[in-house]
Formats: sequence, structure tokens, C-alpha cells
Amino acid sequence: FAINMDQLQLDEELGKGNYGTVKKVLHKPTNVAMAMKEIRLELEEAKLNAIIMELDILHRAVAPEIVEFYGAFFIESCVYYCMEYMDAGSLDKLLGAGVPEDVLGRVASSMVKGLKFLKDELQIIHRDVKPTNVLVNRKGQIKLCDFGVSGQLEKSLAKTNIGCQSYMAPERIKGESQNNLGTYTVSSDVWSLGLSMIELAIGQYPYPPETYSNVFAQLTAIVHGDPPGLPEDKYSEDARDWVSKCLIKTPERRATYTELLAHPFLEADSKREVDMIGWVKDALAHREQQHDLVTATLVPPLASLS
Ligand code: ATP
Ligand code: MG
Repeated sequence: FAINMDQLQLDEELGKGNYGTVKKVLHKPTNVAMAMKEIRLELEEAKLNAIIMELDILHRAVAPEIVEFYGAFFIESCVYYCMEYMDAGSLDKLLGAGVPEDVLGRVASSMVKGLKFLKDELQIIHRDVKPTNVLVNRKGQIKLCDFGVSGQLEKSLAKTNIGCQSYMAPERIKGESQNNLGTYTVSSDVWSLGLSMIELAIGQYPYPPETYSNVFAQLTAIVHGDPPGLPEDKYSEDARDWVSKCLIKTPERRATYTELLAHPFLEADSKREVDMIGWVKDALAHREQQHDLVTATLVPPLASLS
């Protein structure tokens, strides 16, 4: 059955991206909490219909590592996209100063399994692998969202800025500057995966904007500099080797999903218990605490005002 706006009760805002807003909603007929993404487009109805049809493939994207798709509809020139609500939000907001190796391993294996599923079962390249597109819930599950299924939607998004945090592989950055869009392959997602792992480990984007005078300098570092690696003091040889195989600058030499799954780092993950529920709980509590600290310093106690 199809979802429409009348069935939804709007709840709080979950976040904003470059192209739209994500809200928590309640689907009244089924009592299921969902996340609804609103994407504003300037398009005629025919194109919007094409987008909705292309999005339909998402109903087949059912796997433990993929955020479930419930349906999409449009009103005026907005596409509304309803998906599984992930109650711990995206990874970028749970990092703190970096995650321990066993959690890193579990996230890595979930992401590789999800990406491999998309490629093998649906012939989909994700195209936007980054921590904000990796969602987490209190059951400790890690799932991917926002992969590129609709070529029509992709074309309609106003891609005005590359953004100051580029997870694009070197070959893509070079390709875009030559206006050559044919250079995107699965291995470009592997680069973005490696970069996301480093961000998880150190708690920040590996090419921090403060280090570069502008976006051009930052992109130059990605294309011409040595790739970043995991910190030596905190992670095992296996973990560091795994990430370095994602961040090989020549796309043909980068590891494949099959190789990444067979690597000792993920082999070890498959054999151990990881307390993901405990990690999520602590990460949320820590975030809550940071939030309280910020508000406490911004809002003076009432007593001091009188
Ligand atoms: P970009 O626009 O560059 O892709 P983004 O991924 O942060 O950036 P959105 O996809 O619009 O932008 O998402 C905005 C925020 O909403 C995310 O960062 C995430 O924290 C939150 N969010 C998105 N989808 C869900 C969901 N299914 N459940 C819970 N929170 C979500
Ligand atoms: Mg997103």
C-alpha cells in the first residue's frame, strides 16, 4: 500500500542536510514511527512521477544493514521519502573522541555487508558513503541510508557546492573537475568507507578545514597527498592494514568488498561479541552530557538574574 501525508503525524525535526529536512513522523494507521525526508525540487509533474517510480526499487532493498524504505510521495514540488526511524541517529553524532577497535570492526563489517548487498543484489553503487548516512539504533544495529537509486533525482538536486567535507575518492574529484561523470565505480565507495572509518577512530573528519586555507587546497591534498591512516597507538596492525587497503589512491588497486570481508580485521569481528547496545547507550549519554554542558554555560541560572 502507498503512504500519504494524511496518514502522518509530524513530530520533531531530526536533522537538516544540503537538500532537505528530516522529521520524525508517526504513521497513524500502523502506529509505526518513521523518518520522513523532504527534498525540495523545482520540477514538472512528469519528472516527479519518474522519480517516484525509480524510488520503487527501494522496496527490494531489504537487508539487515540497510535502512528500510516505506514509501515516497510528492506534494507540489517536494518529494517526501519515508524510511525506518533510527533512534540513535547518525554515526557522526556518536563519535565522541573516537570509538574502540571492536566497535570500529562491527561498524566496518556492517557497512561492507550493506554495500556488498546493494551491489550484488540490486546493482546499486551507494555514491554518498559518509558518517551522516550511517544510522544507528538502540538495538546496536548499524544501517546505511541515502544511496543513489534515482538517476532522475540525482540530476534534479541542485549540486551547487562540493561542501567542505568531501568523502569523494581522488578519481572522482579529478573526474568532476573535468566534468567527466563516468569515473564513478564501486571502488569510489570503498575510499569513502575508509575515510569514514578514520573519522570514527579520531572523532573528526580526516582533512580538517582548519588545516587548509580553502576547499581547493583540501581537495588538492586528497588528490595529491598521502592518504590518511588510523592512529598507530590506538588500533591493531590488522585494523590499520584494513583501512589502508580502502584508501589506496589508484581505484583499481583498492580492496574489493569480498577482500575486505575476508581480511583478518573483519574475520576477528565475526568471531567476537561486541557490546554494541552498551556502546550506543554510553555514546548517547555522553552526547546528552555535552549538550547539557553547552546549555548550562549559555543560560545563566535563574537566581543570578534576580
Ligand atoms: P547531506 O545532505 O550532505 O547528505 P545529511 O546526510 O546530514 O547530509 P540528510 O540526509 O538530509 O543530510 O539528514 C539529516 C540528518 O537527519 C542526518 O544527519 C541524521 O542525523 C538525521 N536522519 C536522517 N535519516 C534518519 C533516520 N532514518 N532516522 C533518524 N535520523 C535520521
Ligand atoms: Mg543523509
